[in-house]
Amino acid sequence: MNFDVISLFPAMFSSPIGESILGKALERGLISFEAHNLRDWATGRHQVTDDAPYGGGNGMLLKPEPVFAAVEEIRSRRPASKVVMLTPQGKRFDQREASELASCDGLIFLCGRYEGFDERIRQNLVDLEYSIGDYVLTGGELGAMVMIDAVSRLLPGVLGGRDSACADSFSDGLLEHPHYTRPAEFRGMSVPEILLSGDHGRIARWRREQQLERTLARRPDLLDSAPLSDEDRRFLDGLKQSGGASRL
Ligand code: SAM
Repeated sequence: MNFDVISLFPAMFSSPIGESILGKALERGLISFEAHNLRDWATGRHQVTDDAPYGGGNGMLLKPEPVFAAVEEIRSRRPASKVVMLTPQGKRFDQREASELASCDGLIFLCGRYEGFDERIRQNLVDLEYSIGDYVLTGGELGAMVMIDAVSRLLPGVLGGRDSACADSFSDGLLEHPHYTRPAEFRGMSVPEILLSGDHGRIARWRREQQLERTLARRPDLLDSAPLSDEDRRFLDGLKQSGGASRL
């Protein structure tokens, strides 16, 4: 997977992309990453990339000429890459969107600044528009980094054997169950007995019930679309009747 970002502040990416799991994925050639400075495609002595909006109003907009030139040049090298605009008005990015993007050959992220982009960029250059949440950031760089991280960890080989994305929250439509590690007793707090039992069947059922209970307590909206068995539904009905999930 090739990731390209077009930004006025490309240095913002250097630490997060180079550390830990993503750093190793880069070293092993599982992903490639290039941060491009939009200013490199701006012409004129001052290499201006923004201008005031027609009709007046606050703030500045990223001009179409450098953005079109940047995308066209990068796309000539990576014709299969999709162009992704970061915008608070885009589709909300979530785990399902991350899985879909993980099957792309490459992604070119357009990071806005100031009041955002000239509308002709959105209309004519962009394949996908994403928001990372209902709030407004100063720029698209952090959003692009969030998306690159979430997509990368779904690519084959990136997480390695010990970590797996398939049991994470949202991967099966539910929140994940709680985890415990050694020591079994810490400051009077014990690990649930069942996890020490060695009975893998009972542990699996306990974990499933914990997932259901947590999801009901914290994100009941997820239960509307999660794939649930009859046993899951019976467990949830029991919980709702007893009010059991409210403490989580
Ligand atoms: N005027 C724009 C609006 O109200 O929709 C907001 C512009 S914002 C200050 C500047 C840039 O930050 C945007 O062009 C976008 O690239 C990025 N940005 C801000 N919030 C975002 C969000 N929630 N998701 C994705 N990108 C965001």
